[in-house]
Amino acid sequence: NKLAVVICGGGNGAHALAGIAGSKDDVEARVLTLFADEAERWTNTMKTNDFVVNFTENGSSLKAKPALVTKDPKVAGEGCHIIYLVVPAFGHRQYLEALKPYCRKGTIIAAMPGAPGFEFEVREILGKQLANDCILMSFESLPWACRITEYGKGVDVLGVKGFMKGSMHGEGGPTVLGNSPLEAVTYGQGSLGNRPTLICKGHLLGTTLIAINSYLHTTIMYGRWHDWDGKPLAEKPLFYNGLDEATAKMLEDVSQEIQNIAREIEKQKPGTDLSQVVSVRDWYLDTWPNHIPDKTSIYTILRTHKSYPGLVHPMEPSKDGNGFVPLFTQRYLTEDIPFGLTVTRGIAEIVGVPTPNIDKIILWAQGVMGKEYMVDGKMAGKDIGETRSPQRYGLKTVDDLLG
Ligand code: NAD
Repeated sequence: NKLAVVICGGGNGAHALAGIAGSKDDVEARVLTLFADEAERWTNTMKTNDFVVNFTENGSSLKAKPALVTKDPKVAGEGCHIIYLVVPAFGHRQYLEALKPYCRKGTIIAAMPGAPGFEFEVREILGKQLANDCILMSFESLPWACRITEYGKGVDVLGVKGFMKGSMHGEGGPTVLGNSPLEAVTYGQGSLGNRPTLICKGHLLGTTLIAINSYLHTTIMYGRWHDWDGKPLAEKPLFYNGLDEATAKMLEDVSQEIQNIAREIEKQKPGTDLSQVVSVRDWYLDTWPNHIPDKTSIYTILRTHKSYPGLVHPMEPSKDGNGFVPLFTQRYLTEDIPFGLTVTRGIAEIVGVPTPNIDKIILWAQGVMGKEYMVDGKMAGKDIGETRSPQRYGLKTVDDLLG
C-alpha cells in the first residue's frame, strides 16, 4: 500500500524528485521520460551506481533510487496515485496524452511549475469529465534550485524553498490501499518531505495569471531591446540588477493590467478566488523576504536582489566578433511568450480588460521571434496553435476559462 508517484521528465527537477520521493518508505517513485534515450541512459547508469541527492546548503545527502525509470507509459502509469509534471510547459502535452489511460477519479496531476494555461491543456487532453474527476494542482515553480551532477547518478540541490505556492481543482485525493482518502496536498507533501510547505489556495486561473516569469522576463526583454540599434554591445548587460527606471515602470503597469484582469473576473463571477494575483512588488516581498536590501520600489527590489548579481541577458557573440548581440531564441521569449504572456492576453480579451502594455510586448516579441500570435488586437494569429492561449482551445466565455 505505497503511494505510487509518477515523475514525468528526465531533467534536473526530475532527478531531484526521483531521489527525494524514492527515499520515502511509503512512496514508490516511478520516473517516466519520453525524451530521446534518457530512460535507457538513466536505467543503465543506476545498475552500477548509487543515486545521490546532495543538499549543498547544509552538506547533507541522501542515497535513494527511484523504483524504476522507463519510457513506457503503461509501466509508469498503471495504478498510479500522483502524476508530477516536472518538465518545461511545452512538454506537458505528451505526458498528459501518454498517461490519460491511467488517470481515474482521485488521481492527482501536479505540475511543478504549472505555467500559464496548464488547466486549459489538461481539460482539452483529458476531456472535461476526467479532468474534473482528477485533482489538478498547479504550482508556481519547482521546490528546489537544482542541477544534475551526472546523468542518472545524482543531482545537487542548491536551495530548498521554504514554501511553494499553487492552486488546486478538485477535492479529496486518491484512495491508497488501506487508507481513506486524504487531502491531495497531504499526499503531495508526503512525497516531498517537510520542505517546502505546499500552499494551495484559490482557483487554478490565479496561478496562470500570477506566473511571474511570464511577465517579468518578457517585460525586461522588451525594455532592454525594443529600441536596440542593432549594434553589438561590448559586454552582456545585467538582466535584473541592470533594470532601468522606464522598464521598472512598465513592469508595474503590466502587473496592474494583470491585477485588473483578476479583479474583473472576481467581479463577473463572485465567489471566484483569485486572491493570489497580487502586485509584482507584493509578490517579491512575500516570496523573498530576506533577499531584498532595498524594498522601496520594484526598481530597487530588482536592482538590489541578492540572488541576481551576475545574471546577464541571453546574448551571443556578434558575427563581426566585435561584441555581443541579444539572443531571441531563448526561453525568456520562446517559453514565456507562448506559455506565458499570450495566455494572459487571451484571457484579458475574453474578460474584456484592455492591456496596452502587454500588447506592446507581445507585438514586439512576435516580431523578433518571427511568429504571429496577435493580429488586429486579437489573439488570432496563424501561430496561436503553438501557445496555450485560451483562443487556441476555442474558449470564449469567462465560464469556459473557469472550467
Ligand atoms: P530541464 O531543462 O533539466 O529539463 C529538461 C527535460 O525536459 C529533459 O531532460 C527532457 O526530459 C525534457 N525535454 C527537453 N527537451 C525536450 C523536447 N524537445 N521534447 C520532449 N522533452 C524534452 O528542466 P528542469 O531544470 O528540470 O526544470 C523543469 C522546469 O522547472 C522548467 O520549466 C524550469 O524552467 C523550471 N525551474 C527549474 C529550476 C531549476 O533549478 N532547475 C528552478 C525553478 C524552475
